[in-house]
Amino acid sequence: MNTKKVALVTGAGAGIGKAIALRLARDGYDLAVNDLKAPEETAAEVLALGVDCLAVAADVSDETQVHAMYQQIQEHYGRLDVLVNNAGICPIRTMEMVSVRNMINTYNINVVSMFLNAKEAVAIMKNQPWGGRIINACSQSGFRETPVTFEYTTTKWSIRGMTQAMSQALARYHITVNAYCPGTILTPMQDRIAQQTAKIMNVPVEAVREYQKKSQPLGRFQPVEEIADMVAFLASDEASGINGQDILCNGGQVMN
Ligand code: NAD
Repeated sequence: MNTKKVALVTGAGAGIGKAIALRLARDGYDLAVNDLKAPEETAAEVLALGVDCLAVAADVSDETQVHAMYQQIQEHYGRLDVLVNNAGICPIRTMEMVSVRNMINTYNINVVSMFLNAKEAVAIMKNQPWGGRIINACSQSGFRETPVTFEYTTTKWSIRGMTQAMSQALARYHITVNAYCPGTILTPMQDRIAQQTAKIMNVPVEAVREYQKKSQPLGRFQPVEEIADMVAFLASDEASGINGQDILCNGGQVMN
């Protein structure tokens, strides 16, 4: 079995997931990094930090692919200490625009995927006397709805409930479950959000960015590293007593 702690970060090919993988590598974890295509660039940057890294391609909403990913992790490392359920999508659609198919697809990728990954992670973690950490990507959209992200908002509210339910179910195995809830972080996802929102609202993309900027109490957008800091804390020994919480790390944009 690996002597170092091992963390899996899903959706680690870009944005917040990539920043989390690099931060956990700096903290000394060996990594498994996942995305739809094996995130080789992220893996190369992680390896350059002197820890081990396994790049795994898997659609996190596909049961067979997810199972195969955990088999690979088990074979390579023989342990899993931290699962960061980071992968997610944010379609820009008002309620009237959303079809049942859209709704099911977004739930599969944002919510069912976290359940699937947690099931596989727990099968490993529950045999470890020290347990493990499951850390789910939520959002401030899990606290306040926005008119153009109907499916996304409902999935993020759902993740808060699932985080609480999982924390109760898994505490007996010394597995804690928490969620991080970012605000507006400039990632490829936010670029798509700004462009598509501008289209739906028939305004220039700069107007959307200006509005987003004005909504930041700190007067600035947050870098991905601030979210990675929160996740690193939730993974750390210092957070051992935090369980079932959804923690806003959004510069004070939305309050609980
Ligand atoms: P992003 O789109 O920039 O990156 C997400 C990564 O996940 C991409 O590399 C993508 O390929 C991957 N991915 C998508 N679907 C996948 C699937 N089915 N299987 C495997 N990988 C998949 O997104 P981001 O902004 O870095 O967001 C990461 C997480 O943080 C998401 O859950 C998102 O909802 C949440 N979040 C982001 C923001 C923000 O402002 N960026 C705010 C709140 C919450």
